Amino acid sequence: MVLLIKNGFVYDPLNGVKGDRMDVAIENGKIVEKVNEEKAEVIDASDMVVMPGGVDIHTHIAGSEVNAGRLLRPEDHYNDTETKTATTRSGVGHSVPSTFTTGYRYSRMGYTTICNPSMPPLEARHTHEELDDTPMVDKTTFPLLGDWWFVLELLHKDQIKECASYVAWLIAATKGYAIKIVNPGGVESWGFGRNVKNLDDPVPNFGITPRDIIRGLCKVNQILNLPHTIHVHTNRLGQPGNYLTAIETMKCVEDLATDNQPVIHITHCQFSAFKGDSWGTLRSGAEEIAKYVNSHSHVTIDMGQVVFTDTTTMTADGPWQYTLHELSGNKWVNHDVETETAAGIVPFTYRRRNFVHATMWTIGLELALLVEDPWRVYLTTDHPNAAPFTTYPKIVSWLMSSRAREKMLGKINKKARKRSLLQGIDREYDLYDVAVVTRAGQAKALGMKNKGHLGLDADADIAVYDLNPKMTDCSRDYWTVRGAFEKTAYTIKGGEVVAKNGVITKSVMGKTMWADTGVSSCTEDAFCPEVLRDLKKRFREYWTVEMENYVIPENYLKSSAPIRVKPEVQTKSP
Ligand SMILES: [Zn+2]
Repeated sequence: MVLLIKNGFVYDPLNGVKGDRMDVAIENGKIVEKVNEEKAEVIDASDMVVMPGGVDIHTHIAGSEVNAGRLLRPEDHYNDTETKTATTRSGVGHSVPSTFTTGYRYSRMGYTTICNPSMPPLEARHTHEELDDTPMVDKTTFPLLGDWWFVLELLHKDQIKECASYVAWLIAATKGYAIKIVNPGGVESWGFGRNVKNLDDPVPNFGITPRDIIRGLCKVNQILNLPHTIHVHTNRLGQPGNYLTAIETMKCVEDLATDNQPVIHITHCQFSAFKGDSWGTLRSGAEEIAKYVNSHSHVTIDMGQVVFTDTTTMTADGPWQYTLHELSGNKWVNHDVETETAAGIVPFTYRRRNFVHATMWTIGLELALLVEDPWRVYLTTDHPNAAPFTTYPKIVSWLMSSRAREKMLGKINKKARKRSLLQGIDREYDLYDVAVVTRAGQAKALGMKNKGHLGLDADADIAVYDLNPKMTDCSRDYWTVRGAFEKTAYTIKGGEVVAKNGVITKSVMGKTMWADTGVSSCTEDAFCPEVLRDLKKRFREYWTVEMENYVIPENYLKSSAPIRVKPEVQTKSP
């Protein structure tokens, strides 16, 4: 397939391209220098914006937790349906759409790569089955490791290298991409109906603190040379006053950074940026967090932006979900995953007139606008926790237009509006900034070399938006901006046009990228024998499944795309 996108306004931040009129040439699924125009399918993008395909660093779209959310909420399916067409399958779901629908909806918005950020290792098989069932996008999934018993035991003994060997095995065995940490220590405590109160509160039975877990896994991440940093959902998420915990979390790995490179990603930071000591005294802690991020290069964050809508919250943070269930009175699912992690699910509606919800809405935007460097803050809603991912175009319009923000400010709870920092912020993103926070920055943070840019040899994943930057005042015409980002003129995946004017024209299978640490096998010749012997023994004590069934063989994935990493620890027998 040979394609030529002609004359578009190209935004390619990783290659320093800022709205220049350029052609983009594609052959065999990759970006190339040039193609023979006579042989190419030509797309005239004269009045359009061309960007690399969108990358989503944090979106819950697959696995047991997501599926439990679907089961819990038949009402989520009734009014939001996808009709079957000649190319697409039918589906349902507003906040927890079915797999095919998820792929189509991302593709229509120009997204081509997504990260499923919380996978209980034991449930990797289910997660990969659903990811394989999600068309149109490439994907990764992050195993939850912050409360895995092996990690807690080894870090308690300060055996960082040994811990790295176990994690190397786990990542490869579950075909994971990055280390996910959720309320470290708190999720294990939840097994006893408890939670941890701060970074130095010991985890019951393990003699270890959240600080030890975060620092230990940060070191493990460095030893393994994983493409992404540790991906952290902080302790005390969703509690007033937690902005201090978030800052303390970032601080606790400050000394581990080298060459000004990020070593920690704080996810859906909005939920961790609450000031005040009760719901009544709640205020935004965005200013303090942004101040810290602005003066420290070792951290990246994503927004977790609230949008006023009905949605479904789901997280491994079991105790937080219980609190949410008590606050809202809504139905609730609680799940314990043997010796690994937990999960909770609660339906939730964010209301404009509610003081707390409105304050949360302002905090997300304040973070994105007060963090000066767009390369270190990314657009997310922690789908579906703060809103479904289909609301991204609305958020883009808020980032690009202070008028759009003012309009919403006029509709929210009065006390929240009065306390909001937003009124004093006149910064507006331009299309370049938008390209950074929705693709380039995320691809960079994830260490994906062929994603998020349009340089030579990059994967030909491209979004063409029907928006003429020379004719549109994005601040004034924010409705135009929103409309353009809702439906691409063209979405190109792996060098093929897959969506046109918001209609899926071709269904394609995405790849699953995973970090190949070189130890995916259960056999001794492929792995550190001592670790393997120990794992085999413990499998009998810890889990209800056999080790052989726990491991996901590579050929189990429909389209495996391993990324070879070179751990600085011995993972094979000499
Ligand atoms: Zn999340």
